[in-house]
Amino acid sequence: MDMVAVLKTNLDDNAVTALVGRIESLGLAPHVSRTEYRTVITTSGGEGNPELRDQVAQLEGVDRVLPIAQPYRLASREFAESDTILDIKGIRVGGPHVNVIAGPCAIESRELLFEVAAAVKQAGASILRGGAFKPRTSPYSFQGKGRDGLIMLQEAGQAFNMPTITEVTDTRDVEVVYKYADMFQVGARNMQNYNLLLEVGKTDKPVFIKRGLAASTTELLMSAEYVLSQGNHRVILCERGIRTFADDVRFTLDVSAVPVLQERSHLPVFVDPSHAAGRRDLVPPLALAAVAAGAAGVIVEVHSCPDKALCDGPQALLPTKFEGMMNQLRQIAEVVGHRVTRWGEEGEHVRPAATGGGWRS
Ligand code: PEP
Ligand code: MN
Repeated sequence: MDMVAVLKTNLDDNAVTALVGRIESLGLAPHVSRTEYRTVITTSGGEGNPELRDQVAQLEGVDRVLPIAQPYRLASREFAESDTILDIKGIRVGGPHVNVIAGPCAIESRELLFEVAAAVKQAGASILRGGAFKPRTSPYSFQGKGRDGLIMLQEAGQAFNMPTITEVTDTRDVEVVYKYADMFQVGARNMQNYNLLLEVGKTDKPVFIKRGLAASTTELLMSAEYVLSQGNHRVILCERGIRTFADDVRFTLDVSAVPVLQERSHLPVFVDPSHAAGRRDLVPPLALAAVAAGAAGVIVEVHSCPDKALCDGPQALLPTKFEGMMNQLRQIAEVVGHRVTRWGEEGEHVRPAATGGGWRS
């Protein structure tokens, strides 16, 4: 069985290398992941030899060993029993905290971005979205403003005191996105771009991974594992609708993915009702369903003039509709024992207490 050896906190590089050698000499294939909190060694091999687990556990420098039955190891519930709660610039994401990410699909202009940012912040969104690199079906469609857009996003984030998220579509852009944004979004079309996942996995900024249009939940978890394997434990999963025969909607929102992923993983699970629906009238009901199902949050597209939007106008909510949805979301969250994050309220900016379990910070 595969396992994860969690190492003691005081080991230096030489001690870790020595440990890797000892694990190899037991006939296992080790992989080292270093996070800001702990170093872990995941191992494959040794099938049919249950004693190996005890042998690894007894090696000097090993704190504890967790057997993992799933192909995704660091993403699995077996690795961390308690929900991972991330601290993103003082906002807690995961566990009972419900966060709403909102903003335009694409950063079109400074004016639009600031107008939408002001509105969503006022209505209670905690994180600002906006695409600068847009993965479009047609090469002739608006492709995003690139670096100029990222600069606008950073300015809006600072002006409204909101962490920002934007999509990165290419390994060559990881550096520039890292520089200007607070979170990486890996889009549905890039969920299995393994080089991109490895690259963002080498950074220390949160990675929001959207489920591929035709990907299983296991495949989504394996994509998360790519990021985690590189030592970045700040991963969020997002269900955004999958391709089915239903043609009333753009994609079919797989609401069951929320409890399924939560059962199998300790990572926060978000839902994107906008891309699933493809039409704005369905966005609030799908968002409510997501929060009722226990999601850690939703990511919603908002535009002050959707008819003129350069991307995804038909699914963009007007700010007033967004506000109405927020009011309902707060009530639904309460029903399932969760709470929508509000800026400025007591306790929302505090770093969570360090705990022993898994990657939890
Ligand atoms: C987006 O968030 O604007 C987007 C392109 O999403 P997805 O990757 O889910 O299609
Ligand atoms: Mn979009």
